[in-house]
Amino acid sequence: MKMYDCIVAGAGVSGFAAALAARRAGAKVLLLDKLSSVGGSAVYALTAFLSGWPLPKRAGGIADELLQQLEEHHGLVWRGNAVFDENIMQLVMLDMLRDAGVETLFNAIVTQVESCGRVIKSVTVQCGSEAITLNAKNFVDATGDASFSVLAGADVITPDSELSMTKTLMFKVHNVKNFDKAAICRKFREKLPTKKFPVAIQDRFMGTNMMRDDVVILNLTAVAGDAADPVQYNAMHEELLRQIPEVVNWLKNEFEEFADCSIAQIAPMMGVRYTRSIVSCRQMTMHDVYNPEPPEEVVALCGSYIGGHYVKCFNSPWSSRVTGKLAVPYGAIRSRSFDNLLAAGRIIGVEPELISAVRLNVSCIASGQAAGCAAALDIPDYEVLRKELLRQNCLLARDDSPSTEK
Ligand SMILES: Cc1cc2nc3c(=O)[nH]c(=O)nc-3n(C[C@H](O)[C@H](O)[C@H](O)COP(=O)(O)OP(=O)(O)OC[C@H]3O[C@@H](n4cnc5c(N)ncnc54)[C@H](O)[C@@H]3O)c2cc1C
Repeated sequence: MKMYDCIVAGAGVSGFAAALAARRAGAKVLLLDKLSSVGGSAVYALTAFLSGWPLPKRAGGIADELLQQLEEHHGLVWRGNAVFDENIMQLVMLDMLRDAGVETLFNAIVTQVESCGRVIKSVTVQCGSEAITLNAKNFVDATGDASFSVLAGADVITPDSELSMTKTLMFKVHNVKNFDKAAICRKFREKLPTKKFPVAIQDRFMGTNMMRDDVVILNLTAVAGDAADPVQYNAMHEELLRQIPEVVNWLKNEFEEFADCSIAQIAPMMGVRYTRSIVSCRQMTMHDVYNPEPPEEVVALCGSYIGGHYVKCFNSPWSSRVTGKLAVPYGAIRSRSFDNLLAAGRIIGVEPELISAVRLNVSCIASGQAAGCAAALDIPDYEVLRKELLRQNCLLARDDSPSTEK
C-alpha cells in the first residue's frame, strides 16, 4: 500500500493550493477528487471570479502565481473582479501541479476514513468499481462540505438553513449587446417593484461580461436549503434548472441588451456557498472582524467581506462592509478532533455568520496554502510554519486595522 506524507481530499482552489504548497515544502503528496479534474466549484460551478484579495489585486503566494499564469495564458480580464476562463484555469492548475510533482487521483470519491484515537490512518476512495485504501501521515480536508471530516467522525458545524446562504446555478448567455453593468443594475432595481422577477429572493442584478463582451455570466438563480441533505440537494438543483429559462425570458422582455440573447452554457454543478465548517482548535468569530488586534499565529489573510446571499433577500441581517484584511489564525485550520487533520477553503473553523469572509476563491487559496504547508511539516510549531509560509511568499501581516463603512 502506498504511503504519502500528505493526502489532500478535494481539488477545488483550496485543495489545489494545499497540495502545491505541501509539495513545495518537500512532502510526497496525493491530491484526490470525486470530479474528473481539478478546480472544484470555481471550474464546475462556473464561479469564475477571483475575489477576496487582501490587497488590491494582490494576495501573495499561490493566488498571485495563479493570477500571473492566467494573465500569461490570456485567461483573465479585470472587471472590478478578476474574471477567468474556467477551461484555461483548469489547464493552468494542472500544469502547476504537474510541474511541482503532485500526484493526482480524479474520479475518486472518499467513502471511508479510518482512524485510531486522535490520529487518522487512511482513507478509502471508490474509483469506478475499485475501492482503494491510501495511507498518509497527515490529511487536509478541502472537500468544500467537510465530508472528509464527517466520514472521519470529526466534529463539524452544520449551519441553520437561515445562515446557510443561497445556492445558485450559474449560466452564461451570449449575443448580449452593449452590456453596461452599472446601468443594468440600476434599471433592474427600478423595475423590481412593478415587474416581478421570477426568483423572488434575488433582489439585485448579478452578472458580468466574460472574456468576450457579448457573453455574460449570470448569478441570478437562487434557492435556499441544506446542501448536505442529498434529497434537498437534488430538489434544489432541479428547481434552479427550471429557473434558468424563466430568468432568460424575463431579461429578454425587460432589457434590450438581452433581447436577442440565448443560453450558451449552464454550470454542470450547482454552486453551493456554504455547507459546513469544521470545529477547529480556534474558531473564528465576528469579534475577529472588528478587533483591531490581529489574532495570534496568523497563517493567511482574507478580504473581509461579510454577509450577502441571504436566504430571504440579498443582504443578510449581519451584513457588514468592513474593509481591511481578516487574519486567519493557525488554530482555525486545525481540527479539534484529530491531531493530523487540517482544513482548507470554505470549511475552515468559523462561526456561520463569518463564512463570506473566508469562502471567496482568493481566501480559499490562502488557507489552502497554509494547510498544505502545515501538513507537509508535520503540523509544526507556529514559528516553523510561518518561516515556510514566508518562504512561499505568503502575506501574513495585517498592517492596517479594519474600518467599518456604514
Ligand atoms: C454561485 C457562487 C458564486 C460565487 N462567486 C464568487 C465570486 O464572485 N468570487 C469568489 O472569489 N468566489 C466566489 N464564490 C466562492 C468560491 O467559488 C468557492 O467558495 C470556492 O471556490 C471554494 O473552494 P474550496 O476549494 O474550498 O471548495 P470546492 O471548490 O467546493 O472544492 C471541494 C472539492 O472537493 C471535492 N469533494 C467533495 N467531497 C468529496 C469526496 N467525498 N470525495 C472526493 N472529493 C470530494 C469536490 O468534488 C470539489 O472538487 C462563489 C460560489 C458560488 C457557489
